[in-house]
Amino acid sequence: MRTLLPHAELRDVVLRPAATARVWLGAGAPLETVAVPGVALAAGDALVAVELSTICGSDVHTVRGDRPSPAPVVLGHESVGRVIAIGEGGAHTVEGGELRVGDRVVWSVTVSCGACDRCASGISQKCRSLAKYGHERIEPRWELTGGFASHVHLRRGTAIVRVPESLPAAALAPASCATATAWAAVARSGRDLDGVAVRVYGAGLVGLSAAAIAADLGARVSVVDPSAERRALAERFGAESGADLGSPKVVIEASGHAVADAIDAVDVGGTVVLVGSVFPADPIALDAEDIVRRLITITGVHNYAGSDLLAAVGFLAGRGRAYPFADVVGAVHQLSDAEAALEAAAAPGAPLRIGLVPR
Ligand SMILES: [Zn+2]
Ligand SMILES: [Zn+2]
Repeated sequence: MRTLLPHAELRDVVLRPAATARVWLGAGAPLETVAVPGVALAAGDALVAVELSTICGSDVHTVRGDRPSPAPVVLGHESVGRVIAIGEGGAHTVEGGELRVGDRVVWSVTVSCGACDRCASGISQKCRSLAKYGHERIEPRWELTGGFASHVHLRRGTAIVRVPESLPAAALAPASCATATAWAAVARSGRDLDGVAVRVYGAGLVGLSAAAIAADLGARVSVVDPSAERRALAERFGAESGADLGSPKVVIEASGHAVADAIDAVDVGGTVVLVGSVFPADPIALDAEDIVRRLITITGVHNYAGSDLLAAVGFLAGRGRAYPFADVVGAVHQLSDAEAALEAAAAPGAPLRIGLVPR
């Protein structure tokens, strides 16, 4: 819970028409439409008009009741939008530049204090006073907390990244979840990937993004996924099929369903990066002697730091243009039709992402 500033230090922004948020009240309940006629921006805050939000697998898990979430909550943590108002004294991009009204931006899923021991040690996603877009119970003066809305109220401590006008919104909206997380996962391998065999388990958007990032760094990438369609898509994201790449030095487990396989597969001296296990699952048995004798490293990545989001956007705007990131959004629904959008995202064989646009 943030400390409310004295009213004089807040900039009141009146919205006409009012902003709209679709609020999730709990499993089985219909989404509620809430009108937000104004926001009070504190120093360092910004108000963004949403251009496009995308529905992440974790939103689907929440709606299904597969993972706990506070309610009422505005879901959605993958968006691109345009800054329409800024708090008293200005706000900054993650690089420290002055944020301006009119800037097209993406922003981190997390809001961090920047001052605690964890923020100081570079794991701002585990800040002692963390808040997350799309995950917080709505509260007075912070109602616009997620992407299932016409506007999002960005709080000071959010990593905000300016994005090029020329990049399609469909490539940008997932940057603040899938692409930045994939960047963090690849970076966690901690080695020069040029010529290195990398295996990715799971051809969801994190896995595909990790494949493209690793391939661009010179790795020889294979992707394992039960779906032939997804495996074919992985080839467009830099994966090689059919070639024997040998035992992978780096394994990225992006599905959450192949942890034991990932640990078995990695070469002697290799690294397993676990990034897909973001839902409750049965524990797996660890053979400690095997880990010791094979000199392997097993590491976990959850969310990312602001620098990862900046790097991910840099990739999408640069060499990442060679990969079909703009094709990941299979259908776009109106915000007023968010129920149908969620249903489409949960359907078997759903596209990687379903989009939501405000009217
Ligand atoms: Zn997500
Ligand atoms: Zn902190």
